[in-house]
Amino acid sequence: MTISTETKPVPFFDLKEQNRALEPELKAAFDRVLQSGQFILGDEVQNFENQMAEYLGAKHAIGVSSGTDALLLALMTLDLGPGDEVLCPAFTFIATAGSIARTGATPVFCDVCPVCFNLNPHDAARRITRKTRAILPVHLYGQSADMTPLLALARAHDLHVIEDVAQALGAKYDGQHCGTLGDFGAYSFFPTKNLGGFGDGGLLTTNDDVLAEKARAIRVHGAHRKYHHDYLGANFRLDTLQAALLSVKLPHLESYIESRRQNAAVHAAGLKPIAAAADSATCCAQAELSTAIHQLHLPIETPGRHHTWNQYTLRFPAPAARSRAQDRLKANGAGAAVYYPVPLHRQPCFPGDHPALPVAEALTDQVLSLSIYPELSPEALLGISVALAVNTDG
Ligand SMILES: *Cc1c(COP(=O)(O)O)cnc(C)c1O
Repeated sequence: MTISTETKPVPFFDLKEQNRALEPELKAAFDRVLQSGQFILGDEVQNFENQMAEYLGAKHAIGVSSGTDALLLALMTLDLGPGDEVLCPAFTFIATAGSIARTGATPVFCDVCPVCFNLNPHDAARRITRKTRAILPVHLYGQSADMTPLLALARAHDLHVIEDVAQALGAKYDGQHCGTLGDFGAYSFFPTKNLGGFGDGGLLTTNDDVLAEKARAIRVHGAHRKYHHDYLGANFRLDTLQAALLSVKLPHLESYIESRRQNAAVHAAGLKPIAAAADSATCCAQAELSTAIHQLHLPIETPGRHHTWNQYTLRFPAPAARSRAQDRLKANGAGAAVYYPVPLHRQPCFPGDHPALPVAEALTDQVLSLSIYPELSPEALLGISVALAVNTDG
C-alpha cells in the first residue's frame, strides 16, 4: 500500500458518522418525545440527569441550556456579583470569563501552564486579594487542571471552586471525574464537545444539597413553586428533546473518549520524528514557566490526569513555523484550528489595565489543534502527520 498525501479532505470536525450509527435509536427518541407532547423538562430530562449523575459520581446533575449558562447558573447560585473577584485562566474560551463578568463580578485573569495549558496554581495564588471569592479553573482541551493545589488554595482562603468542564466531560483527576471536585462542575453538550448534542445544551453538577436545590430554582426563574420567586433567576432549562437524544449517546461516551485517546496516540507516533513531547516534570511546577521552545512540542497526558483529548494541540516554536504548518495542512485538505488566537485579558470586552501574562500570550502564537474526532479514519490520521512531516524545519 502506498500512502499518498493527496488523500480525501479531512474536516477538522465531523459528527455525521457518529450520529448515523445511532440513527434508529435517535429517531425512536425523537418519536417518543413527539408522541408525549411534553417539550419542557419532565421525565426525559430527569432520566438524563440521573444517568449523568451516576456516570460522573456526582450527587446532583442539573440539565441546562448550554455550558455558558451552566457557568452563569453556578455563579448566580453562589451569589457572586459586584465587588467580588473570581480567578480564572486567561487562556480559555470567552464563556469562562464572560459568565463571571455578566454577574457583575470581576474576572481576575491568571497565567497558565505551557505543558497542560491549564490555570497555573502558583500564579493564581499570587492574585488572591481580600475580594477574591472563587476560583474557576478550566479543564482545557480535555485534560484536568492541577486540582490538588487549587483546592488547597480554595480551602486556605475560603473560596468557592467552579470547574469549567465544557471540554473535558469524562476526564479524571486522580481517578475522580472532573467537575465533581469543586462546589460545581459546568459541562457543555455543544456538538464539538466530548458528548456532542443536537444544538445547545449543558449540565451543572454539585454534591451539595442546598446549592443543588437553589440552582434548580434559579434554572426556572428562581421559583421552587410556579409564580413564587425566591431568587432572581432565568430560563436555563435543557430541552426535553435534547435530553432524550443525549440519553441515546451517553452510553457510547466512553467509547468516543477511547477513540480520541487512540487517535492521540497515533498523532504522537506519527509526529515523533519531527517533535519533542512536552516535559511532564515541569507541568504546573512554579509560577514563572518558560515559554521558549526550540522545536515542535507534542501535548501530553500529565500523570494522574486521565485525558479525553477534546483537542490535540501542538506548540510551534514561532508563529512563522505555525503558519507554514497551517498552509501544508490546508494544501493537503486537512483541517486545523487555533484555540485561542487572543488571550482573554487582551480582549476589547475586558478593558482596563491587566498585568502581562507571558505564558497565555505566548501560547496564542504557538498553538495549533489538529483533527482528532473519534471517527477519523487511520488513513486520515496518517495523512495529517505525513503532511506535517514535510519540510517542517526552519
Ligand atoms: C464550549 C465552552 C464553553 C461554553 O459552552 P457552550 O455550551 O457552547 O455554551 C465554556 N467554556 C469552555 C472552556 C468551552 O470550551
